[in-house]
Amino acid sequence: MEAEKTMKKMMFALIILLLAVSGCSNAASTKEKASKKLQIVTTFYPMYYFTEKVAGDLADVELLIPNGVEPHDWEPSTKDMAKIQDADVFIYNSQYFETWTEKVLKSVKNDELKVVEASDGIELMDALETEEEDDHEHASSKDPHVWLSPVLAQQEVKTIAKALEQADPAHKEQYQQNADALNSQLVELDQLYKETIDQAKTKEFVTQHAAFGYLANQYGLTQIPIAGLSPDVEPTLRKLSELTEMTKEKNVKVIYFEEMTSAKVAKTLAKEIGAKTEVLNPLEGLTKEEQDQGLDYIGVMEKNLEALKLTIMN
Ligand SMILES: [Zn+2]
Repeated sequence: MEAEKTMKKMMFALIILLLAVSGCSNAASTKEKASKKLQIVTTFYPMYYFTEKVAGDLADVELLIPNGVEPHDWEPSTKDMAKIQDADVFIYNSQYFETWTEKVLKSVKNDELKVVEASDGIELMDALETEEEDDHEHASSKDPHVWLSPVLAQQEVKTIAKALEQADPAHKEQYQQNADALNSQLVELDQLYKETIDQAKTKEFVTQHAAFGYLANQYGLTQIPIAGLSPDVEPTLRKLSELTEMTKEKNVKVIYFEEMTSAKVAKTLAKEIGAKTEVLNPLEGLTKEEQDQGLDYIGVMEKNLEALKLTIMN
């Protein structure tokens, strides 16, 4: 009697085990059959946008950090890590932006994974040491916001294209063509910025956080940031009163703010000096409204230029 029970239990366990095993292998083989496409995981919106344009329909491109989520302080969950581990290619902007990559990539067990730092080869500017960032443990020493320069963005596109060509050599020409098409759009965007900013009467603009250094450099403008390289690092009271004095003196008419983080300080400053507030999107993600309007990287960059005109044309 006892022996029979034990036997039954063992059979049951065996069946469950067999089901599980066959279920797994079935799932794996269907997955293999269904998609010979490259599986690419990208971190935040511009990385996703550049990669999707270069990949066309040759790859499945996933966005890890959802739009609407501020990526500066984002950290991956175990589920996110599994996505990276299962991918063929993983694309991020910079170790100074996605600061979690080093640790995560060490724990990923996938020797085949191609890892791409899109800003590779671009000389990064030193981060300005500001007093409120001194005691900030994660304060980075380099400015990672290269994607906001339409010229440096082209370099990131080339780096991404090269990586996809290496991961999938059979489609090399297609990746090159797609990258060229995107880069010619970025050349046009650069022209538009150049032509517009050539007419600038005012060169300085006040931003919520120091995201626009490369863009400013590219076109001879100067960014006056309220917060540091990361939007969550708020200015000290002393810094804020200096900013109030300075912007009053310079007769600043517009204070730019962002929609994905609290714009409280920017709005307070604007009120204090009687300036207007306008959105300048650092493209660390798209808002729901921007997605509903069908805006993409190029569209937002064009909108940003329109917003900048309100300062520089006065
Ligand atoms: Zn930023």
